[in-house]
Amino acid sequence: MGALHLAHTTQPPAADQNRTKGKGGGGAQTFADFARQVYGDQRATPLARELLLAFGFATMVAHSEHQQDAPAVWTTARRAMGTTGTGREWRLDQAIAEDAPRYATGKDRAERACSAPRLRPHPDGPDDFRNRLGICGATADWEHHAVEKQAGTGWYKYHWFCKRHLDHLARVREQLAEPNSRAPEPIPNRGGLLPVYFESDWLSAYRHRVGERWQPPIYGLSADDWPVPGAEPVAPRPRLRLAAVDGTLLTETSGASW
Ligand SMILES: [Zn+2]
Repeated sequence: MGALHLAHTTQPPAADQNRTKGKGGGGAQTFADFARQVYGDQRATPLARELLLAFGFATMVAHSEHQQDAPAVWTTARRAMGTTGTGREWRLDQAIAEDAPRYATGKDRAERACSAPRLRPHPDGPDDFRNRLGICGATADWEHHAVEKQAGTGWYKYHWFCKRHLDHLARVREQLAEPNSRAPEPIPNRGGLLPVYFESDWLSAYRHRVGERWQPPIYGLSADDWPVPGAEPVAPRPRLRLAAVDGTLLTETSGASW
């Protein structure tokens, strides 16, 4: 395993300074290399990037010398991100909840244009989307959609129908019931970045913050493990070890204490 175990590092600081960049030092990396990876990761939202950098800073800079004790690392990361606007919650905990792997549906959820076939041309001319697509195009109510689960990914495609075309909706739902039952669980497309960069008990960390309604995806917790249609699997990369902290620390109260 190429994973770093910084938690047990006993190297003197001088050796750190001489450490070569990249793969040198038995898989070790510098904070600069780590930051470069994080900023280059297209999957990271600004909040996720901040979270990864906070843990990177805590493990590689603030507590890089001697033994790392988990509470100190977590406290540093938590304080680096500060509290939420209300001051009642650590932003770090919010960011971990945001990083819980999940599938979020795409933007066709918002379009809501009725896809029943158009029988007569719309008066707005041949370039109008309703004429180009040959659809009714009227805005559907939120509940008037059928979900089509994609065969390879389980991702949702929405089909909308307006009030005048509810007969179409019923038919499409009926047609999709059987193929949908064979579709796989959707591949997650959000979160899962902490396990890419850090080894820890992320299952418990996510569950603790999101609650029982969250279920780990069958594809694994790390976003690197999720198949992306048309893309090669991601090669394993060295990860930093981050000890899990016990429940009492997770409930450390906000800014008031410092
Ligand atoms: Zn319609």
